[in-house]
Amino acid sequence: MSQRTLIGKTALVTGSTSGIGLGIAKSLARQGANIVLNGFGDAEGPKAEIAALGVQVSYHGADMSKASDITAMMAFAAQTFGGVDILVNNAGIQHVASVEDFPVDRWDAIIAINLTSAFHTSRLALPHMQQKNWGRIINVASVHGLVGSAQKSAYVAAKHGIVGLTKVTALENATTGVTCNAICPGWVLTPLVQKQVDAKAAALKISNDEATKLLLGEKEPSMQFTTPQELGELAVFLCSEAGKNIRGVAWNMDGGWVAQ
Ligand code: NAD
Repeated sequence: MSQRTLIGKTALVTGSTSGIGLGIAKSLARQGANIVLNGFGDAEGPKAEIAALGVQVSYHGADMSKASDITAMMAFAAQTFGGVDILVNNAGIQHVASVEDFPVDRWDAIIAINLTSAFHTSRLALPHMQQKNWGRIINVASVHGLVGSAQKSAYVAAKHGIVGLTKVTALENATTGVTCNAICPGWVLTPLVQKQVDAKAAALKISNDEATKLLLGEKEPSMQFTTPQELGELAVFLCSEAGKNIRGVAWNMDGGWVAQ
């Protein structure tokens, strides 16, 4: 406990009621950071898991597709904890279809949630970080911020966009104690990916196990999922003293996906 490195810091993690966001929130909490959770669905379970790590935890249910909700969430975080020191832009959704068939409302939702929300949270968090001369913004992008895959136009566009936003935010703050970096996971077995496994199993009339192997085999040479805990540990490193001169990178943790 005495070696916890983030005591006194507040971390806000968007989309942290599930999957990668919850994994990152737990890793930051293990280092002593107070946590603001966000996301849809059950918040009580995740809140209890974080509280059990001995930190303060709050929840705000802002819809990341709505600028006014995001403003209210950032005001809530400032009121509750005095400001956000570590901002993890993680909320994200997926939709799979070819460009000519892509539903316009799904395109708009993916760009709003996976990209524009990070602009709003960042613009609202930066003044506090700059004033304290310490801050960490971690954007959960994807390997799809670095390379494309068919059927994922909106997702790939949003993730390439957030890698660009990461670089500019890092550059604008490069002489300060505020850093901004992106994390680019390959496959992580969360509800977002389980839906894609289920769709493959149904389309090809194969078992869940076979569909999982196919999914990994197409893209990920390690044939292993990255875990939310591993991504959480990467976030902790980016928040550490040793991470203070890592600026504007898009760091993949992808079982070799992008090395091919
Ligand atoms: P998930 O579905 O488990 O979690 C998504 C979270 O975002 C949930 O908490 C959900 O409630 C929240 N959310 C969705 N829409 C929201 C909205 N409008 N407002 C607020 N919260 C909202 O998915 P995940 O796999 O953990 O994905 C998290 C992030 O990681 C996403 O940005 C995703 O693109 C990225 N990512 C995932 C993978 C993967 O393989 N799972 C790979 C690379 C990147």
